[in-house]
Amino acid sequence: MQKCENCNSKFNWRKIFKSFFWWSYKPIKCDNCETIHKITFFSRSTVAAMGILPIWIFGYFLSPFDNIFVASGIGPLMGIIGFLLAPYVVRYQKAL
Ligand SMILES: [Zn+2]
Repeated sequence: MQKCENCNSKFNWRKIFKSFFWWSYKPIKCDNCETIHKITFFSRSTVAAMGILPIWIFGYFLSPFDNIFVASGIGPLMGIIGFLLAPYVVRYQKAL
């Protein structure tokens, strides 16, 4: 999980998750020292990939089920899981 680049205090999951709501990627502020952090460009792409790729892969390529309704239910579910895990992998940088 991301830490503050200034004081090393940990950002919690909720704080990071909330920052990428509506795809706006709000900069996050450290509770401890108030340093502003912005998501890196690479992490933005990661969030998008983790949320969208599973849906895409399940929907169009890998569908392990013959039933299109099952496949179209699991794809989005994987997308949601990917999205929920995204706060663990995204990286933020101290804003200058
Ligand atoms: Zn800090």
